[in-house]
Amino acid sequence: MSESYEKLRSDVVACKNCRLFEGTNNAVPGEGTIKADVLFIGEAPGKDEDLQGKPFVGAAGKFLTKMIESIGLTRDDVYITNIVKHRPPNNRDPLDDEVEACWPFLVRQIEIIKPKLIVTLGRHSMNRFMPGLKISNVHGRAKRTKGIDGNMQVFLPLYHPASALYNPGLRDTLIRDMHKIPILLKKIEESAAAGKEGDLKADEETIAV
Ligand code: URA
Repeated sequence: MSESYEKLRSDVVACKNCRLFEGTNNAVPGEGTIKADVLFIGEAPGKDEDLQGKPFVGAAGKFLTKMIESIGLTRDDVYITNIVKHRPPNNRDPLDDEVEACWPFLVRQIEIIKPKLIVTLGRHSMNRFMPGLKISNVHGRAKRTKGIDGNMQVFLPLYHPASALYNPGLRDTLIRDMHKIPILLKKIEESAAAGKEGDLKADEETIAV
């Protein structure tokens, strides 16, 4: 792992930029490889994540892990993180100022990893990158749009595994959407190889998969 990644992790662990660190057991910076093609971004750590200092290790996390494995990858092949890196009290939604305080860490993670694909998990994560969209309308529809560094970035908005876990309809939808990831990666690689990225820079595009 590069030194800047280690620095980033230690900065997250030491972070007191908002109130969220109070009363937590661990920071949850993220986990996986910084060489990942796919970056999964959830909302915030929950109880299990806080206890272990790792993202998505509770019931929703086990479901996410199974889905990642069902597309021929492991957690070690991807990178998994959240919008905020400390558990909000009683799992409440993170407040705007908490998201703002944590945002630079996510920016640094994206700059280090340079993922081909960012998969947002749930509407909160999606709306941080693509405000105004409704998850029920856009889940599973990949979008190439301006990323945080101003360059074009492909996003795939998915339902949150926790919301799909006990809802059979959403669960099937999420599994189906997840299976678009390998197809999408292939398309992204093909379009990069064909030098199409320059043309696409001008515009937003929904990528059919
Ligand atoms: N839900 C999230 O959004 N993130 C986690 O890490 C666990 C549950």
